[in-house]
Amino acid sequence: MANIVVLGAGVSGLTTALLLARKGHKVTIVAKHMPGDYDIEYASPWAGANSLPVAKPGSKAQQYETDTWYELEKLATNLPEAGVHFQNNHIYRRAKDADSAVGDWFKELIREDAWFKDVLPNFRVLDKSELPPGIDSGTGFTSVCINTALYLPWLASQCLKLGATLYRGDISHISEAASLHHFGSLAKLVINCTGLYSLRLGGVQDTKLYPARGQIVVVRNDPGIMCSTSGTDDGSDEACYIMHRAAGGGTVLGGCLQAGNWESQVDPNLAIRIMKRAIALCPALVKPGQGIEGLDIVRHGVGLRPMRTGGIRVEKERIGDVDVVHNYGHGGYGYQTSFGCSLEVLKLVNEVKLIQRIAFIETMRMYPELNPPTTDKTSHESMPSVAKKRKVTADAMTAVLAEDTGCASAVKLPAAKKKTGPAIAQDDDTSTREAIAPPSRGVSFNFNFGDALPQTIRGDDTPVKVEGQAERLQELSETNTRLGMTVQKQMNTIAKLTESNAKLASTVGELSERLASSPSQDVRANSAMGDERVAQLDVELQAAEAAQDQALVRADELQTRANALDTREQALSS
Ligand SMILES: Cc1cc2nc3c(=O)[nH]c(=O)nc-3n(C[C@H](O)[C@H](O)[C@H](O)COP(=O)(O)OP(=O)(O)OC[C@H]3O[C@@H](n4cnc5c(N)ncnc54)[C@H](O)[C@@H]3O)c2cc1C
Repeated sequence: MANIVVLGAGVSGLTTALLLARKGHKVTIVAKHMPGDYDIEYASPWAGANSLPVAKPGSKAQQYETDTWYELEKLATNLPEAGVHFQNNHIYRRAKDADSAVGDWFKELIREDAWFKDVLPNFRVLDKSELPPGIDSGTGFTSVCINTALYLPWLASQCLKLGATLYRGDISHISEAASLHHFGSLAKLVINCTGLYSLRLGGVQDTKLYPARGQIVVVRNDPGIMCSTSGTDDGSDEACYIMHRAAGGGTVLGGCLQAGNWESQVDPNLAIRIMKRAIALCPALVKPGQGIEGLDIVRHGVGLRPMRTGGIRVEKERIGDVDVVHNYGHGGYGYQTSFGCSLEVLKLVNEVKLIQRIAFIETMRMYPELNPPTTDKTSHESMPSVAKKRKVTADAMTAVLAEDTGCASAVKLPAAKKKTGPAIAQDDDTSTREAIAPPSRGVSFNFNFGDALPQTIRGDDTPVKVEGQAERLQELSETNTRLGMTVQKQMNTIAKLTESNAKLASTVGELSERLASSPSQDVRANSAMGDERVAQLDVELQAAEAAQDQALVRADELQTRANALDTREQALSS
């Protein structure tokens, strides 16, 4: 398992951190903004948030949305403390919105034969009688609404429960993050979940990112339904949606999708339009006859959706000396894609870990002087038997790699051959790998593990071509043998420790003797001897008393016999 730093504590960072921690990785979350904060640079708290699929069929995003739905469904069913609940949802389509910004965003969402009709429950086409005025058609289905004020802290608490650590930090370059792992050593991997701020984050600076401003009004009124329209009459980038958050989170009225707009302040005119449109679409929000004065406002808010031309970026990249997996650019769908994207991150993490292992082995092969063969004769002599014990069959190694990569069929090892390379004793400690990586020479590989691995790992200088996987995997097998040598070295160390332990024990004995001959010991010893003598005399005395008793008894017996003889003598003489 790896030490990993997740940069960002929005829904993307926290969900990714949670899934990594569940897999046993040691995760440190570093972020400028944390759950509980409300800031224009932190999109997650401002979201509704619901799950309204908008991905194109066949796209990666479709998979992200589908995977995420099943997780959100589980949360809504089983874990009320997460702040996710089911909501009946209506999507209303107006033909005239087809070319608007919002209409384009909702293109897949508003279809009567939507791809997700078999994913989200209770999908149906609405009857004309169910449509509000001005609406041409509509669909209904069950979705969820997330109370972000509960959900983000819940995610953080789940991470903490699994041993992850959260730190506040404002990073200017992605490579800085690697040194912030709570174990103190360099993290093997950094997961970049900085949302819109990957636009200016050093080492990333992704110019495909741009904000799509959203403005909301949170009210205490309960509409009894969640609904959205494909557009409004107030401009191409203005929207109308209503979502009732779980567990007292209020009702979110929105909104807009203002691309390229960085304004953090509430536009009061837009706020009034949002409230008016919401009541027109769903009169049940207020009492009969009431207008916006019937709304009980909790707060106004503005958030910036992290939009990205080309869609969400879930990719791995080596930046400087740091392996990075990106997970950002979730636009207006960060919650509804959160688990799907995080699952994709897990796959990439496994790939990077495998590449790191192979690169390490290759580096050791290229630079044997970094870890010279041992000169310890005894360890060489006894090495073969230990190495034999440690040697793993090709099949067993395949299984290990398959587990690591999550690609059962992608990797097939050749049978182990006789070792030909230089003898290199090396332990498998990852911090050692990082510490001894050559500073100035890059290594270029060209492996092919089917779909499981990328074709190329970076190369800077003096690239070395590697012909194929069989040779590389053979190297792995040989490394395992070398690990056996390391074990033997450790056993030798243990033997030396045992020896020095025996020496210590003898020193302790000597010291005890000297202590025993010290004057204070004499007094104690004399006193002990005295006690012993008294006890001995006591025993002798008791023995003497017993002998005396016996002698008295014998004397009595003799006296009796003497008396008897006297009596007999008198009888004879008379
Ligand atoms: C009004 C509105 C409504 C929305 N409604 C929905 C909805 O109903 N459903 C849905 O799925 N999505 C919705 N979204 C979109 C969703 O909110 C976003 O896609 C999602 O929150 C993005 O999450 P994130 O974690 O990627 O980014 P963010 O939440 O922005 O988090 C970024 C994190 O990175 C940290 N960070 C950034 N730069 C640095 C740095 N240099 N150093 C340290 N830390 C850094 C930040 O501090 C923060 O912790 C909505 C968005 C808005 C604005």
